[in-house]
Amino acid sequence: MSRVPLAIPNIGEREATLMNEAISSGFVSSVGHFVSDFEKRFAEYVGAKYAVACASGTAALHIAMRLADIQPGDLVAVSDFTFMASSNAASYQFAELLLVDSDPESWCMDVPKLRAELERRKAAGEKLPKAIEIVHILGQPADAAAAVELAREYGIVVIEDAAEALGAVWTSGPLAGRHVGTVGDMGAFSFNGNKIMTTGGGGMFTTNDEELARRAKHLSTQARQPDRGYLHDEIGFNYRLTNIAAALGVAQLERLDGFVAAKRAIAKRYNEAFAGTEIQTPPQLDGQESTYWLYSVQVPASRGAGARDELQDFLAEANIESRSLWRPLHMQPPLKDEARVGGSVGEDLFARGLSLPCSTDLTPVDQQRVIDRVLEWLAGSGE
Ligand SMILES: *Cc1c(COP(=O)(O)O)cnc(C)c1O
Repeated sequence: MSRVPLAIPNIGEREATLMNEAISSGFVSSVGHFVSDFEKRFAEYVGAKYAVACASGTAALHIAMRLADIQPGDLVAVSDFTFMASSNAASYQFAELLLVDSDPESWCMDVPKLRAELERRKAAGEKLPKAIEIVHILGQPADAAAAVELAREYGIVVIEDAAEALGAVWTSGPLAGRHVGTVGDMGAFSFNGNKIMTTGGGGMFTTNDEELARRAKHLSTQARQPDRGYLHDEIGFNYRLTNIAAALGVAQLERLDGFVAAKRAIAKRYNEAFAGTEIQTPPQLDGQESTYWLYSVQVPASRGAGARDELQDFLAEANIESRSLWRPLHMQPPLKDEARVGGSVGEDLFARGLSLPCSTDLTPVDQQRVIDRVLEWLAGSGE
């Protein structure tokens, strides 16, 4: 039986053509027209005023933390249930964290829980966050409208970690027609190899604020001034994307609508197959459209504590790759002493969460193999 991978990049002729063009131009590094083309087209795609290409999604987030003026000891509120890159960006600034549990419906930050904690802290005269970092996990939009409203009341910044959710949108409500990563003060996307589109490695910083965009570009290029000598007016980073990677990005962006449609079609087939079973399918909330970047289910609690690993092993025996969801940040050794808000939603998502194969070129035949195997396990033959 051939292997069904979890999620592999989809790279074709067009990508090779544009990358060869970048190589032949001699501009292989961070100067060259593909970088600015990519930024311009990306900004248009998501509907942000400005986009600044970065070496990674983590780099884009780190720049956002710098621009939010996060200093050592400042507090950053961040989703507890996420990939660790989300909080690493704050930790690079020596921030303290306030880890906020997930809402069981969206799996993303429980903003009302954060609101209650801010009210408590304010009344008690305790430290308040300087930034709220929401994370649109697995392609699922977080409640950005509520986060922005809360942040405005407290005069703090909203950073959107949209690394996993490029293409996800709101379809009704206050954010109707908007893309994730464009409604907070700053947003960050990732083009790592396993994301919905890739540049090999790379990221994008987005904002609607001209000054933040100018400063992001400046910080990403060693804060070097356009001066005949080497004049740097602050401590910057080497966080620029290369022209070769940007050429790959331009080609992938042309195909992004197709990738998003493929992910949604895969999700629909899984959802239909698992309807009426004990498998819990991913969030599908009114007024928003997930991209289902990594299609992830919750195995039934009734099957006991080891059920997630059992299903993963059962799939692996049939040469099907799957992956557990992340351990919440408060369970990560370097973050064990950080402040927390909320209960055990993230822990439960971790304990029972499994991502299933969902490459954009997954064939219906291979997907059916995955479905059949999951149903077989559910029926009890996985014991
Ligand atoms: C992938 C990812 C990042 C970081 O992106 P890189 O490009 O790998 O640095 C940040 N946050 C989340 C939630 C991610 O999944």
